[in-house]
Amino acid sequence: MTNWLEKLINTHLIGLKPYESARRLFSGGNYFLNANESPFTNSYSLNDERLNRYPDCQPQAVVEGYAGYAGVQTNNLIVTRGADEGIELLIRTFCEPGNDKVLICPPTYGMYAISAETCNVGVTSIPLLPDFSLDTDAITKVDDVKLVFVCSPNNPTGTHVDAEQIEILLQHFAGKALVVVDEAYIEFDDSAGWASKLAKFDNLVVLRTLSKAFGLAGLRCGFTLAQPQIIQSLMKVIAPYPVPEPVAQVAAQALSKKGLMTLTQNVTTLKNQRNELEKALQTLPQIQLVGDAKANFVLFRCKQKDELMSYLVDNGMLIRDQSKQVNLANCLRATVSNEKEQTILMDLITQFYQNRSNA
Ligand SMILES: *Cc1c(COP(=O)(O)O)cnc(C)c1O
Repeated sequence: MTNWLEKLINTHLIGLKPYESARRLFSGGNYFLNANESPFTNSYSLNDERLNRYPDCQPQAVVEGYAGYAGVQTNNLIVTRGADEGIELLIRTFCEPGNDKVLICPPTYGMYAISAETCNVGVTSIPLLPDFSLDTDAITKVDDVKLVFVCSPNNPTGTHVDAEQIEILLQHFAGKALVVVDEAYIEFDDSAGWASKLAKFDNLVVLRTLSKAFGLAGLRCGFTLAQPQIIQSLMKVIAPYPVPEPVAQVAAQALSKKGLMTLTQNVTTLKNQRNELEKALQTLPQIQLVGDAKANFVLFRCKQKDELMSYLVDNGMLIRDQSKQVNLANCLRATVSNEKEQTILMDLITQFYQNRSNA
């Protein structure tokens, strides 16, 4: 970097690297089982007559549609540019740069720490226990954080966090910190989630998205659910026009009665596909399933992880290496997909180990 610019940039940003999203990591590839996207596409219509006008800050059809879907009141939610923007808004609204901290429980979703770091907010890490449950004993000794991020089902372990554990956190941090339950994968879990508990716990926040089960990762639309005062605080920080008009139109269609029927069908299909993928992987002695599969991906530990990963990439099959995360040495994560792509994945993995044993 030019010398003068190095002096100009915020000091806390100098050591940071941009997030290595699945999309940024590889340029090629034919099969994308690396970002937990949906294999299904749906069609939507676009009315271009309103594009000369600024959009509503919070488009009513989307707010009402999602509130109905999640079973909350319209003043319990804010529409954001993906759940990722919700994470950042919470940090910018509740954490003072250079002073405050958030708590995370790795291995987990990377954006909590990255958003905190870009805002110059500290990160306290309390790793999950070996069975990937929360270390509530250690967490309840912490008092100096403003936000506690819990992901359920957790990315990348696929594990559901017990309601009793989350309730312990909500009680411990009552009046002190917000407990943020990231439910990006809630549709794939059999549990109901936390949206119905907002009235009971005034420090509870729930994150949701259209990127995963709804199959709209390209849309960038997510939701933060909480008691009205929290939502009003986030409204002070969000940009004046955060939801582009085309996004609002497509999201409203996805949340219509027809859209929700499609969602239910696709989730059922993907849950079956998830069982198939787990079963297929379990037949290979070189592979051991890790965690659980309550979301739309499977995590596994494997022999010759680097070589397997290169073999898959060389053949256009992208999955995600999770081995740098705590307690996930040699672990790879594959997104549940349609039959065709899963067959290609399994054929490649099988071939890889056959080539090795013949060599
Ligand atoms: C994918 C994902 C998100 C981000 O969702 P967007 O709405 O696409 O920003 C948030 N949390 C978790 C755990 C995720 O896996």
